Order: sequence, then structure tokens, then C-alpha cells
Amino acid sequence: MQTRLSNTYKDSPLGQEADAILRSCVHCGFCNATCPTYQLLGDELDGPRGRIYQIKQILEGTKATVSIQQHLDRCLTCRACETTCPSGVEYHKLLDIGRELVEQQVPRPALQRSYRRLLQYTFGETRRVRFLLFFARLLRPLLPFQIKKKIPLARKIPLTEPGSYARTMLLLDGCVQPAASPQINDSAIAVFDRLAINLRIIPEAGCCGALHHHLSDSDAARHRARANIDAWWPAVQQGAEAIVISASGCAPMIKSYGHLLAGDKQYAQRAADISAMTRDISEVLSNEDTSALNTDKVGCIAFHSPCSLQHAQQLDGVVETLLKTAGYTLVPVRDAHLCCGSAGTYSILQPELAKRLRSRKLGALQEKQPELIATANIGCLLYLQQEAEVPVRHWIELLAST
Ligand code: SF4
Ligand code: SF4
Repeated sequence: MQTRLSNTYKDSPLGQEADAILRSCVHCGFCNATCPTYQLLGDELDGPRGRIYQIKQILEGTKATVSIQQHLDRCLTCRACETTCPSGVEYHKLLDIGRELVEQQVPRPALQRSYRRLLQYTFGETRRVRFLLFFARLLRPLLPFQIKKKIPLARKIPLTEPGSYARTMLLLDGCVQPAASPQINDSAIAVFDRLAINLRIIPEAGCCGALHHHLSDSDAARHRARANIDAWWPAVQQGAEAIVISASGCAPMIKSYGHLLAGDKQYAQRAADISAMTRDISEVLSNEDTSALNTDKVGCIAFHSPCSLQHAQQLDGVVETLLKTAGYTLVPVRDAHLCCGSAGTYSILQPELAKRLRSRKLGALQEKQPELIATANIGCLLYLQQEAEVPVRHWIELLAST
């Protein structure tokens, strides 16, 4: 694609990065075929090619409008378009740039700004999510069914004290997950214990920053990245092998710390090192001998592969292989490449589109009548289980129960 960036951007690092991405796009439109919002709305401007074009216009000097802001807001950041694109266009990086410029040029109404800040404030800290959930669970019996089903119940797994081993990896505790589903990381620690690996949580590490990043608050995302790097660095220097992420939605964010902090002299190298040693939990286990986790259970499971796993990390099929190797039976899932609608805060900010996507996804997941739906990301899990007819679990819980 030919570009003519305006003088404001053409010599800036942001403009040069955007220009290289724009030039790699050949405008073929293949990406529209797998874009969930294009499928739902049928509008070119709500597909990847149209969004790329709108961002290009801004970079070439057209002033951003409320309409462009809405088309960019409707993007799920699911990155299905990147998996489909034959030219390797790094759409998500261009979207980040486009959203940042639109945020600067089109101020949001005060109410919308406050709401977005409130989401960051509430969901970016485990203690606040715990506080909220404590009261929600207390009031649960009194609430109408439609609200009640949105409140996740805490489940505990029986824990044995982990042993002490020569190998150590670090586990991100996260923000929402330890409050809403603490059994996920408990299961991860139990599984690694059986493989003779210490899986340590560093309490000072917290939200990965994806929440802030998706709400176009780059400064807050960078602040979270620096805080996590500071928290992990001493253990990394003592020989921790990897940063292990059990919520697939957090892994792409931490894998991008190097890019996020490339312009920060003090943190750039450490950020790149942390990104290079970050692994989705499925990546780690696929390189270990997991025969100790085999089961003779014959559960019939539908696996929902989150976009953050199959598109952003390109780990399609890895969890499925681990579950099958452990002995589980997986049913085929139609349109498995499509997003469930959760997508960070998308289900809160774009509820109508998100509900339509969830309804389609649950139809596909439950078509073969599985006993259970397994997934790899806390956001998808919480969103799907509100309407699912069968239990929804993180797949690591299944390996822990073998
Ligand atoms: S992003 Fe890729 S698939 Fe989409 S129009 Fe550009 S080159 Fe084609
Ligand atoms: S990230 Fe997802 S929603 Fe956004 S343009 Fe790409 S395919 Fe469409």
C-alpha cells in the first residue's frame, strides 16, 4: 500500500513504525473473511482492511472523528485478521498507534472517560476485585437471576504442600484471576510440583497492564510493566528459568514488554529479557515429559481456544494435544477461530456485539454435547460460564485433577 504520511508523523518513530506496517498491506481483504465484527456488521469500516485505511487517513493528515473512534473501539483486538493475512501485516501494532492518535484528537465525553478509568481502577488490582466479589457473593442469594449468574463462585482444590526442587519458574498471579478463580493458579502449582518444578508467585508482581493498554492508557500500561519487571528481576538473576502465564490474555502483553519499553533507556534491556523468557503455561508443558499427568478419565470436552492463545501467541493446537495426551476426549468445535466476545473489557464496553459473539460461540462449543468446556483465559471463562449449560474450567484444572 502506498503511503504519504503527513509532516507531523513521517519522521517520528511512531510514524515510521506505522508506515512500515501500512506498506506491508496489499489491500487484498482476505482478513475480512475471519473478522468477527465484519461478519456481524457487514461494514467495511468495521473490518481490518477498513480500520487500516482509517488509521492511514489519520497518519496522512485527516483529522480523527467520533465515527473513526467508534470503528476502532469495536475492534476486539482478537488478531484473527493477523492469522489470516498472507502478507504478515502486524495489525495490532497499527491499531495501538491509531487508537493513541484518536485518543489525542477526539476527547471522549466526561462520563465515558470516568467509566473507563473506573474499569482500570477496579479490575487492575486483585484486592479491589476481591473486595467487590466478597460483597457480590454475600448478596448473591438476594439478587435477580440475570445478575446472580454473573458472579463467579470460589472453588477450592485440595492442596498438598509443594516440594522443593532444583528447577524454578515464576508464575504471574495476575489481577482478576486470583480473586475470581484462585483454583487456576493452585492447579498450575500442583501440576508443576508433579513435574518437579518450583512454580513461585512473586507477590509484588500484579496486573500485566493489558487492561490499561486496551483502554489506550499507554502510560499506565508502561507503569505496570516496570513494576512487574522490578518484582521479577531479583528471582530472574537467581536463575528462574521462565515467567509462566496461566491466563493466555496476559501472555501477549508481557511478551510485548520489550516493544512497549524500547524507548526507556533504564528498562529497555530488562524488558526485552523478560519478554524473551515469558511462556504461556501450555508452551512450558509441551516441552516437558507430562506422562505423570496421564489419566484414565474418559471426559468429553469442548476446548475454547482464546484469541490470545491461537492468534496473538500462535499456539493453536498446543493445549488440545496436552489434553489428548493426558487421556481426555475432545469434540470438534465449529468456527474455532472466532472470538467469544469477552476480549478484555470489550464485553462491558460493547455488550451487544459481545453477547452476539458469545451466543454463536456457545452454540458451536455445545453442539456435540460435551460434559465440560475448557479454556485458557480467565476472561473467556468468566464470560462463557454466565450462559453455558455445562461447567467451564481452565484446562490446567483438568490436568491437576488427573
Ligand atoms: S491486512 Fe493482510 S489480509 Fe488484510 S488487506 Fe492487508 S494484506 Fe490483505
Ligand atoms: S483484531 Fe479481530 S476484530 Fe479487530 S480487525 Fe482484526 S479480526 Fe477484526
